[in-house]
Amino acid sequence: MPIATTNPATGQVLKSYEPMSSEQIDAAIDRADLAFRDLRRTTVAQRAQWMNAAADLLDAERDDTARLMTTEMGKTYAAARAEVTKCATACRFYAANAERMLADEPADAAAVKAKRAFVRYQPIGAVLAVMPWNFPLWQVMRFAAPALMAGNTGLLKHASNVPQTALYLEDVFRRAGFPEGAFTTLLVGSDAVDRILSDPRVRAATLTGSEGAGRSIAQIAGRELKKTVLELGGSDPFVVMPSADLDRAAEVATTARCQNNGQSCIAAKRFIVHTDVFDAFAGKFAANMAALRVGDPMDADTDVGPLASESGRDEIHAQVRDAVAHGATVLCGGEKPTGDGWFYPPTVVTDLNPQMRMWAEEVFGPVAGLYRVSSYDEAVAVANGTPFGLGANAWTTDPAEQERFATDLDAGNVFVNGMTTSYPELPFGGVKNSGYGRELSALGMREFCNTKTVWVGEGAATAGAGAHAE
Ligand code: NAP
Repeated sequence: MPIATTNPATGQVLKSYEPMSSEQIDAAIDRADLAFRDLRRTTVAQRAQWMNAAADLLDAERDDTARLMTTEMGKTYAAARAEVTKCATACRFYAANAERMLADEPADAAAVKAKRAFVRYQPIGAVLAVMPWNFPLWQVMRFAAPALMAGNTGLLKHASNVPQTALYLEDVFRRAGFPEGAFTTLLVGSDAVDRILSDPRVRAATLTGSEGAGRSIAQIAGRELKKTVLELGGSDPFVVMPSADLDRAAEVATTARCQNNGQSCIAAKRFIVHTDVFDAFAGKFAANMAALRVGDPMDADTDVGPLASESGRDEIHAQVRDAVAHGATVLCGGEKPTGDGWFYPPTVVTDLNPQMRMWAEEVFGPVAGLYRVSSYDEAVAVANGTPFGLGANAWTTDPAEQERFATDLDAGNVFVNGMTTSYPELPFGGVKNSGYGRELSALGMREFCNTKTVWVGEGAATAGAGAHAE
């Protein structure tokens, strides 16, 4: 894949880059390794000062950065501005909370026959971040802010279609005061990932991306015995039960499916509706979807911009055509527009069955599948009946049902009567083929820490009940 900015609204290539040479990659890893030796010795307060300065730069440069993101991957300008703000918020959150998250945790010294015993969280070194284009700033920031605050250094291999956003991020951290090499963008294709992750100076990797990329990176990391965090695809269920507020559910369903032009891992993708309210919900939802304005992502009136790539649009159209060929009904959309840009209309498809690709595959565009169920148990069975387990939504005003959904939905995040989203305060991640490990909150920061046990005694033997030789 060429490393280039191509405007998805026009199909025009605006800027191309040569991939870095092997020597340039080697020098960048070396700088990251050397920077780690310095960064780990800085105080959390010093790093917090730099992180807050990064937040200030993001805020001050929001409009230009948002324009760049829209040009590179097609999200609406309004959504891009909100993404920049969210990144600044995350920087400030980790700046304010890292001291507490990294503080030594005392253990029960008497129980382990110590004078003192505690857990200390320490950075591990240079971490490779392989990132996707769909939230080109946020996906990186939710790794970078906690990792840098912990004292790690970052090597970013961003998606090949967002090179300018990737270079901007490196520049932000440099101007904020972080030492040279603390955060470096590697302009490389995915074929360079094996060589980078195999380097002994690179201690771990985090990937946000597709299942295929996850398998590939996990294989390399397994061979090299390196820690990974994998944030992969999703096909989130959105369950609507009879007690739900249907107007509100249909409104949120529309946003949840079409945010980011339908290209979000935690977008609701499968709408599982109880038969008692199926027709009422389907009517409202399809009407909302059909009313969305598709067009120039820079235009303030646009709800849905183009898909990020021509191949992405071809893929979702093929999934819709496959469903129709196997008996699905299209309630709105479903036709590929002609003309410049990779636009696709918000689409609702129903009468689905397991022979259709849409049943089990992730649909990465503004296309919703509607499923009719006749009981709570059937709703949960359909919701859990995919290889993915990232987010899940349930709409019900019945407190007992809310409690059951929270337990029974097999996902890393369950949102009841609201849209799945991420907050720096809450852990984020998936189960099953949606990956493993967590980002955000203290858990995200500690994924790339050495959780070190420290035991301090009087020099006496530790033998006794509960003591083992290993
Ligand atoms: P992708 O094709 O997997 O690309 C993601 C990143 O991985 C890019 O930097 C890509 O580089 C690289 N890559 C691709 N194949 C690789 C391989 N075999 N070995 C090493 N690196 C590889 O995914 P995408 O199309 O950009 O993003 C969409 C996918 O990401 C969807 O499945 C979506 O659900 C998922 N996603 C998950 C989350 C989450 O938090 N769980 C968040 C956002 C997106 P190139 O660009 O150079 O190919």
